[in-house]
Amino acid sequence: MKQGWKTWACAALAGLTVTACSTPGYRTLNPSCVEPFPDAKYNRDGHQDTTYIVAVMAGRSPREAALLSFYNEAADDLAWRFAAPQVSVWASFGGWTYRHRIVGVLHSLHGGGPEAVDQRRRDLARALSGRPVGAHDTVWQSGLIIHALGDSFAHTRGEYGQGEAYGELYGHLLDGHAPDYVAMRPAVYQAYIEHLYEALAVPGSEDRAAFEAFAGRMNDLPAGVDHIALHAEAIRAARGDVAPAPRLDCDALAGRLTLREVSRFLRELEAGFRPD
Ligand SMILES: [Zn+2]
Repeated sequence: MKQGWKTWACAALAGLTVTACSTPGYRTLNPSCVEPFPDAKYNRDGHQDTTYIVAVMAGRSPREAALLSFYNEAADDLAWRFAAPQVSVWASFGGWTYRHRIVGVLHSLHGGGPEAVDQRRRDLARALSGRPVGAHDTVWQSGLIIHALGDSFAHTRGEYGQGEAYGELYGHLLDGHAPDYVAMRPAVYQAYIEHLYEALAVPGSEDRAAFEAFAGRMNDLPAGVDHIALHAEAIRAARGDVAPAPRLDCDALAGRLTLREVSRFLRELEAGFRPD
């Protein structure tokens, strides 16, 4: 018993040290949080930057778009609280409900077949389109839904995302980061941004023509592993064109997002999914 306690205490201390020493990605990689504009890094184009671009084109204010973008990426940035690789490890020790909500709901690693994949995408798009427009107090919830929506496309097998979803136990560990790169499956990216645009569109304020031009430019890029940087750069350039990034107090935003409220929200979100 005594030995067990010591082991636990050491693990907790190690965890605290890592948390204290690690820098959340937003501090260096979100243009609303840093100056000057940093180099694009892979994997932030699909969640963070695409959300900003599509939200503005769909008629959201740059501030709302920046908040949606920030909270979307917070699901990966605030890694010890919300990212799939970290939570799937630490929450395996007695935190299975939280682990399920983070891995299976927030990161859409639900392991379902093609019909369940379609259903999840529809459920998330419906949940997103039903949320209030504006930079309101619960905009973080919309940001997290967008993360889950993006992952409901990315975390699937098949060139067109037509296969089953990766599962809750191992995620896409065995396939590395390939499912998260826009350039590896352009058709999946096209389907994702179309769903995202539709869910966010504000009649009277949206700019469908600008969105279609952006989607067309992305679709024209060469695909595959040699062109990952090209896609990331195109998305970064589009972000710069659509509207300058408003400044956010990112540390304050990150600090107020707690495990408890995120867990409670994910429970509500999942309760709203329609049974297959
Ligand atoms: Zn994710």
